[in-house]
Amino acid sequence: MGINEDREMLISKLQGEGYLKSDKVILAFREVPREEFVLASDRVYSYSDYPLQIGHGQTISAPHMVAMMTELLKPKESDNVLEIGAGSGYQAAILSRLVSRVLTVEVEPDLAVFAKGNLDKAGCTNVDVLVGDGSKGHPPRAPYDKIIVTCAAPDILQAWKDQLKEGGILIAPVGGFYHQDLILLRKSKDGFKRESHGGVIFVPLRPG
Ligand code: SAH
Repeated sequence: MGINEDREMLISKLQGEGYLKSDKVILAFREVPREEFVLASDRVYSYSDYPLQIGHGQTISAPHMVAMMTELLKPKESDNVLEIGAGSGYQAAILSRLVSRVLTVEVEPDLAVFAKGNLDKAGCTNVDVLVGDGSKGHPPRAPYDKIIVTCAAPDILQAWKDQLKEGGILIAPVGGFYHQDLILLRKSKDGFKRESHGGVIFVPLRPG
């Protein structure tokens, strides 16, 4: 079977399981070639629903996790988005089809180069990759409509809360090394509302 059939089968599976819901997110999954975001040796596993190693002990998240987080963010065409943890660049690429612009911060310089190269191959022109410590966010482009954290943080950091727009949504895996809760935070003029979306496992946020 070819890679296009593999992609369609994965999309059908994620729809059936309830991870993919909206037409526009489904279209983004159809348009972004995940095979460009994995190591060449893993190309045949591009559309398997699990994380894959991308070097430096890091992983590209499983497709169902990318689907779930993307749907929860409720991406809008006008959104200015910050991602913490570029990794392969795949999550940023999916978002780039749905929002105005994405800034993704990556602490590991080699992975920032990997992500940038993958995003170029996939034709994503509205994503910027920055090398740095994402725990500080990126004040020059704040406030952000949406913030997505793709490494596990001990808690939702103050810099992210400060840089989130009123009416904005932040999503992050919060907890310890082996287990975290996927937390969704909404900011309003009255403060923050926090909801949990179940247990997840992400690689930890590293000091920059
Ligand atoms: N979103 C990625 C998966 C991220 S894996 C994808 O779609 O492929 C988590 C990433 O977070 C790793 O690349 C890791 O290097 C990065 N990371 C860890 N600590 C960080 C920090 N303090 N600032 C920015 N990135 C960080």
